[in-house]
Amino acid sequence: MNLNLKNVFSINPILFFEVVRILANVAVCVLPQQVFNVNSDNLHLLNTTFSYISRSINMQKFKEEINNVENRISNTLEDNNIKKELKELGIDVIPFCTIVDKIISSKEMPIFPNVQYYVYKTEEEDFVKKILEKIRKMEIEILNSKNIKSQLKNRLKIIKLEGELLGYPKCCINEFIKLKKKNILEGYKVTPEKKVIIDLLNSKMLEEFQKIIESSLSYFNESLYSLFSMNFYPCSIACRNAIEVGKICEEYLDNMENAFKKGYRCGLLFNAFYHIVTGYNSYITSKNKDSSYIRQISKHYCKLKPEIKEILDASKNVITNLHFGNAFIKNCVERSKM
Ligand SMILES: [Zn+2]
Repeated sequence: MNLNLKNVFSINPILFFEVVRILANVAVCVLPQQVFNVNSDNLHLLNTTFSYISRSINMQKFKEEINNVENRISNTLEDNNIKKELKELGIDVIPFCTIVDKIISSKEMPIFPNVQYYVYKTEEEDFVKKILEKIRKMEIEILNSKNIKSQLKNRLKIIKLEGELLGYPKCCINEFIKLKKKNILEGYKVTPEKKVIIDLLNSKMLEEFQKIIESSLSYFNESLYSLFSMNFYPCSIACRNAIEVGKICEEYLDNMENAFKKGYRCGLLFNAFYHIVTGYNSYITSKNKDSSYIRQISKHYCKLKPEIKEILDASKNVITNLHFGNAFIKNCVERSKM
């Protein structure tokens, strides 16, 4: 098993970082981004969705078309090397078409067909499929409804269901939904994404980074454990429940090769770095310097040390790229060997 995990780590450290939650039994399912980018028929999905909305096809045909896309992708995944390694770890992958973007902060129904790849514990397949079916049902309800309030209600329900499926702490799911709702309905500016950035800057995480790297990762900041997934936003980086998830994952790796634990810590560091660079991007591109969010982050970004500013500038255009994330983690593990 260690060998398969080692292979996953060397092929794709970010996937390793996500998959550890399944192995450590804190989640039955995870949702890594950009790992399985099979040619995914998004245009076909979009056309089919509009055909359904305009009633050129009925619901049964619509569901059939979605199933066809998913089956086609499943077949192409059969030869995928990472999927083979995961299989040996008792883990499988299922492509799932989503039609509505739940995360985007728009009152209108955000139709954005996309293929998500759920990575799950093979023995939990029935459970995972049942939840995905529920999500599909709610998405179709959203498409059928003309009422913005009931659409929003279903979008938030999907976020809750998905959060539970991915093993996120309840307090964090509830806070995420509360902030999203306030943001969409009242224009409240602090989204869950921004809140994490503010938390990290206020706790002087950039300075902590230096200390951690200088100690070759033997020193570590506890709040970083709350950032246990690239898709997850804790209710606070001090959330005990979220920190616990990250710690359980690290403990799971404790008895294995040293590089795994270091790899995991570097994954946590990368996730925090991702948020800080995202904040930096909005700081330099923001047009409204008076917004309270920009004021809150500006006071930190305006006094960066030149060497830190240089790192943020070099990362700002590549931060969302999976290859960059993987290289960051590998590099970080290499450096901490010295
Ligand atoms: Zn929480």
